[in-house]
Amino acid sequence: MFSDIDKKYAYTGNDLGAVYSKNKTVFKVWAPLAENVTVRLYRTCTDEKPYRNLPMTKSKKGVWKKEAFGNLNGVYYTYLVTNDGVEQETIDIYARSAGVNGAMGMVIDLPSCNPAGWEKQDYVKLEHYTDAVIYELHIRDFSIDPSGNFCYKGRFLAFIEWGLVNAAGDPVGLDHLKELGVTHVHLMPAFDYATVDESNLRKPQFNWGYDPQNYNVPEGSYSTNPYDGKTRIAEFKRMVYALHKAGIGIIMDVVYNHTYATADSCFTKTFPKYYYRQWDNNENLYSNGSGCGNEIATERTMVRKYIIDSLVYWATEYKIDGFRFDLMGLYDKDTINEAYEKLHEINPNVILYGEGWTGGDTPLPWESRCMKLNARNTPNVAFFSDDFRDTVKGNNFENKERGYVNGASANDEYVKEIMSGRIPHPQLPNLKKYSWTDSPAQTVNYVEAHDNLTLWDKLYYTNPTDSIEKRIRMDKLAAAMVYLSQGIPFIQAGQEFLRSKPFPGGMAFDHNSYKSPDAINSLKWDRKSEYKSVFEYYKGLIALRKAHTAFRMYTNEQVAENLCYLDNLPLNVVGFLLRNDNIFEETIVFINPNDYPVKLHAFGEYGVYADDSYAGTEPIRTVCGDYEAAPISAIVLGRLKQEGNTDISAENIYTEAALHTKV
Ligand code: CA
Repeated sequence: MFSDIDKKYAYTGNDLGAVYSKNKTVFKVWAPLAENVTVRLYRTCTDEKPYRNLPMTKSKKGVWKKEAFGNLNGVYYTYLVTNDGVEQETIDIYARSAGVNGAMGMVIDLPSCNPAGWEKQDYVKLEHYTDAVIYELHIRDFSIDPSGNFCYKGRFLAFIEWGLVNAAGDPVGLDHLKELGVTHVHLMPAFDYATVDESNLRKPQFNWGYDPQNYNVPEGSYSTNPYDGKTRIAEFKRMVYALHKAGIGIIMDVVYNHTYATADSCFTKTFPKYYYRQWDNNENLYSNGSGCGNEIATERTMVRKYIIDSLVYWATEYKIDGFRFDLMGLYDKDTINEAYEKLHEINPNVILYGEGWTGGDTPLPWESRCMKLNARNTPNVAFFSDDFRDTVKGNNFENKERGYVNGASANDEYVKEIMSGRIPHPQLPNLKKYSWTDSPAQTVNYVEAHDNLTLWDKLYYTNPTDSIEKRIRMDKLAAAMVYLSQGIPFIQAGQEFLRSKPFPGGMAFDHNSYKSPDAINSLKWDRKSEYKSVFEYYKGLIALRKAHTAFRMYTNEQVAENLCYLDNLPLNVVGFLLRNDNIFEETIVFINPNDYPVKLHAFGEYGVYADDSYAGTEPIRTVCGDYEAAPISAIVLGRLKQEGNTDISAENIYTEAALHTKV
């Protein structure tokens, strides 16, 4: 369906939308079946009547065009489009900015929105995906709670505030992100979404933002003035600039898989039905693989072009460092691969990852879907490892089901496999068929994200009779597994101080807080001080990971040659040896999920770089011979490289590892 349209009308120009210059603005909109299109100009975004109506002319490939002379910077505009005899007014799908609630587009002189110094900044450096340390954050959650003492609560500009502290004097906000050491902030939807009323920001409102309205426009409720389309652009850029100056990259959560509206969306009004996917060649039977009643037909030529144009726009105009694709299983692989090519050309340090599943069934053929199990079809894109998540803490959807760190009887093989990045490993031949990738760079390791219970709340349900102290051990052990495993580590904001989303009363927790009040969602900055030891542990793990290349190997081959699991360990304990580090001659990691200490033996002297209470780049003590790993804890041993000291390097890692398993 619509393949004839693609053949006949596919347009390749990069000039769709309102292209501004001082003397004229050129409006172009692709609407091949429209009978008539008029561009309407408004002086403000609340005007009821346009001050000008400019009829457009249909030119090649179904593109309607109008040159409007004069300086239109800051003028609002819409299109009046007639399809099948029905005339409807719509915002431009290519609009760069918008008035309040995203109803009108704005002609904009983009460079005039740049903060001073903008040209001097650049993308953050990222040699390789596994070097990233990702932190998922909702813009409003970051600063809305009074405990953060922000001026710009809930706004983009909260990211430019520095020197702020909580009641106990600990840094919050941007200073906190720097202190924690993350390399990338992954911003939950920051494009213009529908369900927060921008005209009434005094009213408490919240949404995660997975309800897209205008893909190329920053969300108005995060700006200080949603009525002025320039403000949201300028403030978004100031946020990017502040993060880049702090050395932190920005990953945007993009949701091209569905739109909030269907019949009333700007896509439908511009070209009915074309942008959405349908079943059985029936243009009225919209598929629902998103769980939201519509899904975007990424495989159609002009939809693919739209998505890629949009990504390229964010990457170039806003210097966005990476993208996270919501429900990536609804994207066809060609769109994602082409997007990577284009983005990589612009920024070789770009990072792309997404959810390798759908929210329901879709007519997109299985082999085309960017599913986790098809990961090998899109080798430059990473996937959330729900295997990792569920193995470590228990099934995400069964509140009470336990995982490896919180008391489930362990399947050591699975634990090993997730820790080596879900790739085939020579010591795990039985699991080879379950591996869905050949590269640790395709695996995003996590135990908590915005969806579902936070890790801390999950532990409340799985281990209700255990002490807080014991549950903190479980939390820290889960974090140790995230940061000591091969792959890309990812946490949700606030996880580093036991983020919790309690309902009033505190005896039940919100597992789907997409429109819950700030009281549930916001980051409570005082928790950073309340659980300081947890924060310090996460911070130490991040520093340890960043300092050592052995925790973030790049390829399947490197992992096979340099990561070896140890045998003959106490029940449930998983341990492995790492070689080829930049600093350590030899690294040993043990994970003890048991609620009792276990006896281990060090064959030689090692520094302890992580244990149940400490993690960092300096050893806290040394061990030699027999020692104990505390209950529910990880332990990291390192032996520094020394010149001329070669006696500990056996020919291959497996024979060497055998030396470590003598009972
Ligand atoms: Ca909005």
